[in-house]
Amino acid sequence: MMKAYRFRLYPTVEQSIQLDQHIGSCRFVYNWALDQKIKTYEQTKKSISRFDLNKLMPSLKTENPWLADVNSQSLQGMTKQVESAFTRFFREKKGFPKFKSKKNPVQAFPIPQHYSVNFETGVVKLPKIGEIKAVFHRNFVGELKTATVSKTCTGKYYISILVENNEELPSRQSFTEVTTIGIDVGIKDFVVLSNGEKIENPKYLKNSLQRLKILQKRVSRKQIGSKNREKAKQLLAKLYEKITNQRNDFQNKLSFKLVSENQAIALETLNVKGMVKNHHLAQAIGDSAWSSFVTKLEYKAEWYGKTILRIGQFEPSSKLCSVCGYHNSNLTLKDREWVCPDCKTKHDRDLNAAINIKKFALMDQNLIGI
Ligand SMILES: [Zn+2]
Repeated sequence: MMKAYRFRLYPTVEQSIQLDQHIGSCRFVYNWALDQKIKTYEQTKKSISRFDLNKLMPSLKTENPWLADVNSQSLQGMTKQVESAFTRFFREKKGFPKFKSKKNPVQAFPIPQHYSVNFETGVVKLPKIGEIKAVFHRNFVGELKTATVSKTCTGKYYISILVENNEELPSRQSFTEVTTIGIDVGIKDFVVLSNGEKIENPKYLKNSLQRLKILQKRVSRKQIGSKNREKAKQLLAKLYEKITNQRNDFQNKLSFKLVSENQAIALETLNVKGMVKNHHLAQAIGDSAWSSFVTKLEYKAEWYGKTILRIGQFEPSSKLCSVCGYHNSNLTLKDREWVCPDCKTKHDRDLNAAINIKKFALMDQNLIGI
C-alpha cells in the first residue's frame, strides 16, 4: 500500500533560491500548458494531449532559456497536472481549471523520480539542487514514488514523499451492532458519539481560533497596500499555519482512537458547502475541518481493516426520535434538547442524531431491523 510522509526541509539560502526557481518555473509551465489547451480547443475544437504538450517543451525552453536551470521532469509533471485538472473538471463537473497564481498560499512543485533520502545523514537529494538538510521524525522502507516540495506562506519548505511499502492491506474485520459507533458533527462539540461521548476541540485550538478572528479584523482595518497591512497579513498567515498543524494533530489522534476502538464507524455524508452558509454551523465546520477529519478516518480505516459506513445526507437523523421513531418536524437548529411528544424521552440533539446515524447505517447493512 501507498503511504505519504512529510518532512521539513532546511535549505541554505542558495538552495532556497533554487527551490523558488523550481516553483516559479513549474507555475510558468503549468499556465503555459493550460493556455495551450484552451487556445487549441478554441481554434480547432480538439484537445491537445499531455504528450503533444511535452513535444512542444523544447521550443518553449529555447524561448525561455532560464527553464534549463530546472529539473525537466518537474516541468513535465505540470502538463500531467493540467491534464488531470481537466479530467476532474469533466468527470466531477467541478470548476474549470484555473491559472496558478504567485499569491496562492502554498506553492509547490513535483519530483517524479531520481531523488533519494538518507536517514543517517539527514538529507534529501534532489535533482539539479543536490543534498538538502531535512528533519526525519520517522523512517520508512519501500519504493519512492512521486515527491512534492512545497513552500508555505511563512516561507517554510516541506517535502511529501509517496512510498509504496509492498505490504498488503489487512482484510476487513466483521462488525456488529456492539462494535459499531455512530458519529455526528456537533455544533458546540467537534463530534458527538452514539455512546454518549462528546469530544470538543482542544483548548489550544479554540484559543487559536479566537485569535484568528481578532487578527482577521486587524487586517481588514489596515489601509489597503500599506506596510502595516502587510505586517498584519504575515501574522495572520503564521497563525493560520499554526491552526492547520494543531487541527491535523488533534484530528490524527482522534481518528486513530476511533478506528482502534471500533470495528465500524457510521457517519453522515454532509453537504459542507450548504452547511457553511448556515450561520450557526459556519464556525463548527469552518475551513472544511469536517471533511479533512473524514479523510483521515477513511484512510486509517483502510490501514487497519475497519469499515466506514455512510448514510445519505437526506436521512432525517436529528429530527427522528431514536427510541420510538417519532418524526419531530418542528425541531429547529436552535433546539439543543427536546422531549419526544410520543414516548417522552428527553433528547440531546446531537447524541440523538449520532444514535440514528448508527441505526440507519446498520439497517442498510441488514444488521438490525426497524
Ligand atoms: Zn420517542
